[in-house]
Amino acid sequence: MIELDGTRARTRVRARVDGLVQGVGFRPFVHRLAREHALSGWVRNDERGVLLDVEGETAALQRFLERLRGEPPPLASVERVSAEPLAPTGREGFRILDSEAGASAGEPAALVSPDVAPCADCLAELFDPGDRRHRYPFINCTNCGPRFTIVRGVPYDRARTSMSAFEMCASCREEYEDPASRRFHAQPNACPACGPTVALIERRGTPPPAGCAPAGKDGRAGAGAMPGESALAGAATALLEGRIVAVKGLGGFHLACRADDERAVAELRARKRREEKPFALMAPDLAAACALVDLSPAEQLLLSGAQRPIVIARRRPGARIAEAVAPGSADLGVMLASTPLHQLLLADTGRTLVMTSGNLGDEPIAHRDEQALGWLGTLADAVLLHDRRIEVRADDSIVRALGATDRPPLMLRRARGYAPRSLPLPVPTAPMLACGAELKSTFCVAQGTRAWVSHHIGDLRNWETLRSFGEGVEHFAALFGIEPEVVVHDLHPDYLSTRYALEREHVTRIGVQHHHAHLAACLAEHGEHERAVAAIYDGSGLGGDGTVWGGELLLGDLAHADRVGHLRAVRLPGGDAAAREPWRMACSWLLAAFDGHAQLPASMLGRVEQQRWDAVAEIARRGTSSPLTSSVGRLFDGVAALCGLRMTVRDEGRAALELEAAAIAAGRERGAYPLPLIEAELLELDARETVRAIVGELAAGVSPAVVSARFHNGLAEATARALSLLARREGVRIAVLSGGVFQNRLLLERCLELLAASGLRVLTPRALPPNDGAISYGQAAVAAAQLRASPSTASASRSTASDSSCESPAPASKRSPSMP
Ligand SMILES: [Zn+2]
Ligand SMILES: [Zn+2]
Ligand SMILES: [Zn+2]
Repeated sequence: MIELDGTRARTRVRARVDGLVQGVGFRPFVHRLAREHALSGWVRNDERGVLLDVEGETAALQRFLERLRGEPPPLASVERVSAEPLAPTGREGFRILDSEAGASAGEPAALVSPDVAPCADCLAELFDPGDRRHRYPFINCTNCGPRFTIVRGVPYDRARTSMSAFEMCASCREEYEDPASRRFHAQPNACPACGPTVALIERRGTPPPAGCAPAGKDGRAGAGAMPGESALAGAATALLEGRIVAVKGLGGFHLACRADDERAVAELRARKRREEKPFALMAPDLAAACALVDLSPAEQLLLSGAQRPIVIARRRPGARIAEAVAPGSADLGVMLASTPLHQLLLADTGRTLVMTSGNLGDEPIAHRDEQALGWLGTLADAVLLHDRRIEVRADDSIVRALGATDRPPLMLRRARGYAPRSLPLPVPTAPMLACGAELKSTFCVAQGTRAWVSHHIGDLRNWETLRSFGEGVEHFAALFGIEPEVVVHDLHPDYLSTRYALEREHVTRIGVQHHHAHLAACLAEHGEHERAVAAIYDGSGLGGDGTVWGGELLLGDLAHADRVGHLRAVRLPGGDAAAREPWRMACSWLLAAFDGHAQLPASMLGRVEQQRWDAVAEIARRGTSSPLTSSVGRLFDGVAALCGLRMTVRDEGRAALELEAAAIAAGRERGAYPLPLIEAELLELDARETVRAIVGELAAGVSPAVVSARFHNGLAEATARALSLLARREGVRIAVLSGGVFQNRLLLERCLELLAASGLRVLTPRALPPNDGAISYGQAAVAAAQLRASPSTASASRSTASDSSCESPAPASKRSPSMP
């Protein structure tokens, strides 16, 4: 805080406010505050944040600065207020000035706010027949509304958003210019007279003729469109009649249908060609959501909070939902309306709706009207469009409730509502881009002590996603004013994210080992610099020895990590094919557990051809096209197949999810299979004994549910024992649990229970997911720490990590990305 000379009657300061202060009603707040304290001057946005110049009576100015920090508007987050004194001018009045581009180069940019669900005031107006915005689907104010998904550039002003296409009417402009209005400088401010409109394009289940009903030049839907209220009524009727409607949301299109209509949901599943993943639900209100899933009070707050994520929680017995919504799952994913448009649809139908991403398979969610009127239209019977352009594609965010535990929920997918909020970086860095991994990909730009992790981009094995990745990088770089001098990537040379990094010229390149990035991401988000022991369990990542890692015990900090233990490695028969065919891992683990003999077990008879089984056993024995892997994800696959749950999967991790669901069905089973720790050069978790126990119990008629629970318990016990042992030996006080396998709530809870007695501080991911969505941030944290430790090497381009355990990586398996 600036020292103000209390002896002078009049003082003037130029102050800068850093933090999330644009697009959140900060300037009107400053304006109001200044007038309350009888101060004169101005306030404006620039590329860094908010700048103000105020003068007045010294004591009043002091109080003003205190309140500036202490009472910001609900969506703002003030990180720093710096002020310098200037000579008073004696001017009168207080003004809000237009934004000005051209802040000093190299400074971190202003923080663009995430999108915000409708606030209580706007909802009240939405349903008030006397209000001029009664039932207007684009109602918003400074406290709510679209932000990130409509922004084209900074500073955040209407001209640099997709609202620039709409000219405000006199009434809206009056609100916009009135400091006393809730819509003062609300950039997306609009009303039925001047703002975006909805239109319904009826398809009636037939594929659209080529070039049908294109959006007009002004973005409004063409022939066949029903405007406004009739469009909403038509959509609600279609939904109630059991039809499928594509709905344009904040960051992309959803496909919606009644959640209680077995036929409609089954039809949607068939049209989406996606038989496996559960569909998300949108409930009309909190009470309806609570009738579907078990939610703690904290989780109810999360569900109804401004971010409006999908919350995955235990399904309540008797939840009235079609079986096809989430077959084989103990959980349901539920959200509340994220826009006024959704709010109206739910009010008009009075039903919980399936609200699943408008995409096919692993492709990114559709976000352009052309897509909706083209291929997406063939999946829906009608398309509910609007003419406000989506600038940034953003999926729904997903969090997983941890139920009875008082731990915060697990972030599984961080996108709409959370991105692009920044995370602190514990070590300051030069302008940096970290490119992430391959599945569940994100990227991260960073500068100084701030990192912006992108919204979930998706599976980078898909060319459409790669294009989205490249566009996203450019957008973030522009939005936050970052020209990367350092580019960080995974060690896997075949990841498209790595190739993207290697194509960037005139930069310092740093490769970071995958599991070290997982560890660092967790340490960094907790602001932790100390050394930690870590269990990093996931599907796969290229290890420093050229094999496929995924069950790693690491000892390290932000800059450096050593592999100190791992799951016993077995063959990955057929490489990537093993991730899609869990039965191959069952075969591989049987070979390991029974001295090279693997009989097709009774639980899998008739599900796998004997000939294929024999062929896979043979390549695994010889090691042909079968790299070694220490992956815990693949061990889960093998056990799921042994239990007869899954022989093939479309998404990685599906078999493990069903194994967890089976274990939960077993209730409070506390038995655990042996999983010995073998002390050699590295500590080895030897799961061969576990596999022998599983085979024996299944043969003896023990149910797959009980077997699954005992498997989870055994792995948790071994993990806790290994971490405690390593921590004692190395004199370390912190343990980290991360990697995609720890999306498994049962395993995570068991590990936490068992580690509670160890005296260790156990860190788990919070703001970011345990899965590969956190890799980009972890890479940034590692690279920043390494550059600080040895800045001299920063001048040369280098492509391998200085991490001793990660030198000279060789690809485990050459593959090419799958083409659409
Ligand atoms: Zn509002
Ligand atoms: Zn208007
Ligand atoms: Zn991973």
